Amino acid sequence: MSDIKVHPVPDDFAANALIDTAQYDSMYRRSIEDPEGFWSEQAEQFLTWFKPWDKVLEWDYHQAHIRWFEGGRLNACYNCLDRHLDSRGNQTALIWEGDDPAMDKTLSYRELHTAVCRFANALKSRGVKKGDRVCIYMPMIPEACIAMLACARIGAVHSVVFGGFSPESLKDRILDSDCRVVVTADEGVRGGRHVPLKANADKALNACPDVHTVFTVKRTGGNVDWHPERDVWYHEEVAEASADCPAEEMDAEDPLFILYTSGSTGKPKGVLHTTGGYLLYCAITHKYTFDYHDGDIYWCTADVGWITGHSYIVYGPLANGAISLVFEGVPTWPDASRFWQVVDKHRVNTFYTAPTAIRALMREGEAPVQATERSSLKLLGTVGEPINPEAWEWYYNVVGDGRCPIVDTWWQTETGGHMITSLPGAIPMKPGSATRPFFGVVPGIVDNEGKLLEGECEGSLVITRPWPGQMRTVYGDHQRFIDTYFKAFPGYYFSGDGARRDADGDYWITGRVDDVLNVSGHRLGTAEVESALVLHKAVAEAAVVGYPHDVKGQGIYAYVTLVKDIEPSDELRQELVDLVREEIGPIAKPDVIQWAPALPKTRSGKIMRRILRKIAANELDTLGDTSTLADPGVVDELTANRANQ
Ligand code: ATP
Ligand code: MG
Repeated sequence: MSDIKVHPVPDDFAANALIDTAQYDSMYRRSIEDPEGFWSEQAEQFLTWFKPWDKVLEWDYHQAHIRWFEGGRLNACYNCLDRHLDSRGNQTALIWEGDDPAMDKTLSYRELHTAVCRFANALKSRGVKKGDRVCIYMPMIPEACIAMLACARIGAVHSVVFGGFSPESLKDRILDSDCRVVVTADEGVRGGRHVPLKANADKALNACPDVHTVFTVKRTGGNVDWHPERDVWYHEEVAEASADCPAEEMDAEDPLFILYTSGSTGKPKGVLHTTGGYLLYCAITHKYTFDYHDGDIYWCTADVGWITGHSYIVYGPLANGAISLVFEGVPTWPDASRFWQVVDKHRVNTFYTAPTAIRALMREGEAPVQATERSSLKLLGTVGEPINPEAWEWYYNVVGDGRCPIVDTWWQTETGGHMITSLPGAIPMKPGSATRPFFGVVPGIVDNEGKLLEGECEGSLVITRPWPGQMRTVYGDHQRFIDTYFKAFPGYYFSGDGARRDADGDYWITGRVDDVLNVSGHRLGTAEVESALVLHKAVAEAAVVGYPHDVKGQGIYAYVTLVKDIEPSDELRQELVDLVREEIGPIAKPDVIQWAPALPKTRSGKIMRRILRKIAANELDTLGDTSTLADPGVVDELTANRANQ
C-alpha cells in the first residue's frame, strides 16, 4: 500500500511493559538458538508439573510426528485452578456479563474450582472416564467454561461446538469424534433472542444413537422436550455431586481437546491439541502478547466455540491467574455502544476482538463509541482475518483514543496460540501487519517450489519447526493431518496463508493462498485490494475474489457493502475503481463490482471467499459445503443479483 504508517510503542505503555525491545530480541534469539533450553525454562515457570518430562521435544515433520514434554505429568484444570487457591482463592476468575445488560455475576477462583469439581464428579457418575470425548454445545455462560475444565480435570477430551451451529453441523461433529455425552442448555440468549439449543441437540441426537447422557443447564427456563432415559438437568446432578474431585494425572501428550476449524475453506477438520505444550503455549502468549499484569481485567469477545475462546478466555488467562470476562451477548445489542458500555461497567483494561466486529461497528459511526468513556482501556487486540489499515486506524483512534497499542495476532486453530504478533511494549505497530514472530516461532516464506525466500519477499507462509502449541493430529485421520499441512512444502508446516515480509522483517498476511489473485501474471493478495476499497468512506466492507478472464487469466471481482444509508451508483463504482488504481496500481483495479447488502460469513464472522469465487465464476450449482455459513440467505441474494459481466 502506498504509505505505510508506523506507530511507535507509546512511551508510557513501554515504561510498564513486561517485555521491551531489547528483551524481545534476546529472548527471541535464545528461543531459536536453544529451543529445548528455552521451552524447558518456560514450562517450569508457567506450569506446575506432577512429574518432570523425560524429553523436551521429538519431531519429524515428514510423518507429522510432534511431541513436547513427553513423560511429564500435569493436569490442565489443576494448573488453571487448584494451584491458585492459596494465593488468589478469593480473587475473581470469571466475570460474566449477560446478554441482558442488567445481568452479570462473578466467580472467584475458589467458587470456580468448587463448581468444576462438582461437575467433574457428575460426569464421572455418568460413566465418563479419561480419554472419553464429551461434546459441549453451549451458550456463553460460565457453565461452558466449567464443563471444559471439568473434562480436563478427569482427563476427558472436550469437543466444543459453537452454539450457533445447526443440528446437522452438531451431528457431524458428535459422530466424527464419537462423543457419548453432550452438555447443553435449554436455550441460549443472544441479542435479545432465544436460541433453542436443547431442541437443536435433540434433533442432532436422532442420528447419534451412542450418546447416552445429555446434561442440560437451565438458562432461560424455556420449554424443552425431555428424554428421561438420556436427559439430566445440570443443576440437579451437580447438587448431588461431591465437591472433592482430585485432578487426574495426565501425560503432557494426552489429548486435551478436539476442536473443529471454522470451515472457511471446506470441510472442518477435528484439530487435536494435547495437554502440556498447548497449555504452556497459551499461557505464555496470553501473558506477553497482552502484557498481562496481575489484576488486569481482560476481555476476549470470542465464543468458547472457537480456538480463540479456548486459548484466550479459558486456558491461557486462567493458567495465569487472570480475570477473564465472558460475554453472552453481541456487539450491537441493545445498541452499537454495547462493547464500550461493558468496558466502562467492568473497567476492562484489555480488549480483544475480531475485524468483523470492528468493521460492523465502524459502519455505525463514531457516536456510539463516543457516548462511552473507555478510560480503563490499556491495550486492544485483533484476530481472525487480516485487518484493513482503515479499520485499524479507526480501532486505534476512535476506540482507543490513540492511547492504546493494538496487537494484531496471526494464528490458527491449528497453532493453539499466537504465532505472529507485535508485543505491545517491544514492537512498533504497522496497521495491517501482524509484525513479528512470537518466541520459538520460525516463520518462512516459500515460493511455489517450496524454496525459502530471503529478505523482502512474498509467497506462502510456512513454519519451519515445531512450537509447543502446535496441533498433533486431525482426530481419527492422521493422514489428513500430513496431507493438509506437511505435503505441499516437505519439511515445513504449511499454514495455508500467504504472506509478505517487508524490508524491516515484518510480516503481512495477504489472505489464504487459495485466494491469492493472479492477474496477467501478477500475484495480488485479496487483503490488499480489499483494504484499498474500504479506504473509501462510503464502503463498510469489501471482499475480493478472482474469476476466469479470457485475457488476464484472472479478473478481479469485488463485492462491496456500503455504509448505512449510502446508495450505490455508477459514479461511486468509478470512484472505487479509481481509488484502487491510485492505491495499488492499474493491475489491481476491479473488473466487476457487485453491490452486496451483506457478505457470506462463517459463524465466526469470517468472509467466505470460496463461495464468492463460485458466484463470480457463475458456478452456482457447485457452491460446496455451506453448512458453516452464518446466514445462507446472503448467498441467495448475491446469486440473484449477480453482476452481469
Ligand atoms: P478452515 O481452516 O476450516 O478453513 P479457518 O481457517 O477460518 O477455517 P481458524 O483456525 O479459525 O479457521 O482461522 C485461522 C485463519 O484465520 C488463518 O489461517 C488466517 O487465514 C486467518 N487469520 C487469523 N488471524 C489473522 C490475522 N491477525 N491476520 C490475518 N489473518 C488472520
Ligand atoms: Mg484454516
